[in-house]
Amino acid sequence: MESVYRIKWIFFAATAYMIFAFAWWTILLIRKNEDAREAKIELLQLGMRTEQIYTDSLAFIRSARYNEINHRYDRQKDMIWEEGIFIFLGFLLGIWFINETHNKEVALSNQRRNFLLSITHELKSPLASIQLILQTFLKRKLEKPQTDKLIHSALSESDRLNQLINNLLLSAKLETAYTPQLEDISLEVLVDEIVEKMKTKFPNANIVAEKAVVPVFSGEKLGIASILLNLVENAVKYSKDIIDVRVRYYYGQDKFHIEIADQGIGVPDKEKKKIFEKFYRLGNEYTRQTKGTGLGLFIVDQIVKAHKGSIQALDNHPKGSLFKISLPNRL
Ligand code: ADP
Repeated sequence: MESVYRIKWIFFAATAYMIFAFAWWTILLIRKNEDAREAKIELLQLGMRTEQIYTDSLAFIRSARYNEINHRYDRQKDMIWEEGIFIFLGFLLGIWFINETHNKEVALSNQRRNFLLSITHELKSPLASIQLILQTFLKRKLEKPQTDKLIHSALSESDRLNQLINNLLLSAKLETAYTPQLEDISLEVLVDEIVEKMKTKFPNANIVAEKAVVPVFSGEKLGIASILLNLVENAVKYSKDIIDVRVRYYYGQDKFHIEIADQGIGVPDKEKKKIFEKFYRLGNEYTRQTKGTGLGLFIVDQIVKAHKGSIQALDNHPKGSLFKISLPNRL
């Protein structure tokens, strides 16, 4: 990474040198043009004197040949300025473009590295836990309660592994051919189901769904469930001391709206769009401490888009984030 920044600074230094050199050559060209004009005027004066048609300086200044020299000089001066400005702007545009491309490349390579690091960790740690549990069974004769506890732990680790692999497969599928298989969904029932599931998974979290009466929604049940699961799980995952998650849904202006709000660490404004990119994780310390691959919100966004809807990350009040989804009544 260091060398990338060094190359960038060398590039900027070389560019600054080129801009100065360019400005200097422009000034020089204008001066040379001025010198040429003066030389031409002197030559004209000399010629007129030789031809004995030079009377006085006022008549000379009014002469057609003098005016022609001035006219040409002005045209050339304008041309130098115009072309100079044009080339300079082109130059700036080129630099901006190179800089943008470079920044995107660096961000992409960071994302890939983050992804590789987190995916290796996410794959290795459940495997290591399951391996340890099996070795314990092999080496020691355990009582029933202890055995049950370890079996539950192994099941939950294999569940995590399964979820990760499913997410990887799903994200690949969503990018290619995916059209939701529509069915009638009762949001009241689905939200209740997800909230109950999440309450069991996170017993310390306060997860509440605000009940509402809404029309039947036509969408893919698995897809909408995956959206809710991902968003509620994130809301819990990115909350520190107060784990307070609210799920709200309502119907208005021909659209279904779902909101998931938390009192967690929140998402900075400049990251609010980027978090929906594949493998994107925030670079803050807290995100790095949490488990994840940066796939969840990408999957959510793709499913929402496949339902012709939109999703936004907003600030929750007094703190935390609020993810708002709007889905059209009929696809
Ligand atoms: P993962 O959770 O696996 O990192 P996601 O795609 O679900 O991946 O989320 C991308 C990033 O967006 C997370 O790494 C986190 O930094 C940020 N994020 C997602 N949800 C929240 C939330 N509710 N509060 C704060 N930050 C969030």
